[in-house]
Amino acid sequence: MQALKERILRDGKCFEGGILKVDNFINHQMDPVLMKSMAVEFVRRFAGSDINKVLTIESSGIAPAIMVGYLLELPVVFAKKKRPSTMENMLSTKVFSFTKNHTYDVCVCRDYLHRGDKVLFIDDFLANGNAAKGIIDLVRQSGAELSGMGFLIEKAFQHGGDELRAMGIRVESLAIIDGLEDCQIRLRE
Ligand code: 5GP
Repeated sequence: MQALKERILRDGKCFEGGILKVDNFINHQMDPVLMKSMAVEFVRRFAGSDINKVLTIESSGIAPAIMVGYLLELPVVFAKKKRPSTMENMLSTKVFSFTKNHTYDVCVCRDYLHRGDKVLFIDDFLANGNAAKGIIDLVRQSGAELSGMGFLIEKAFQHGGDELRAMGIRVESLAIIDGLEDCQIRLRE
């Protein structure tokens, strides 16, 4: 998606270890106009898919997911990274975060993810695919079906996308980065 690629080149910043910072328009300050355009693009790409719910993971996935849910007029559920003491009936799984170098629990209440749901997962980044695989596990435990996964930015050099596609999952990424060597952002055409 051209507008996102141009914004990444203009405002994205590279960090050691293949990390891209997009704090200026996605992860800290947010650009709602771009966010809406990205959601419109997801709606276009997943137009043929059977979806009754949008699922994301806190916190950076929530903004794009709610825009998609708003356009599709569907509920949006975010998986939580801390198990709330008041929540019963939980499904949970473990996810390793390479940006933070630790493993955390991700959970969702069975009331909001269950058999019969057809889920579109939306997140900001796809890197090694650990968060996505955690979500796949939660969806499997719940008995729901995964209709597709949409990411704002896929870092193809970390190969999570290859793994998800090899599993037969429909993956759509609005910008694909082939490399961040020497702090140069190498975007796929
Ligand atoms: P994965 O689980 O696919 O390895 O990483 C995806 C998660 O890690 C995303 O939810 C995102 O929050 C975070 N992440 C991965 N790579 C980056 C990056 O380059 N920049 C930022 N800001 N977050 C990232």
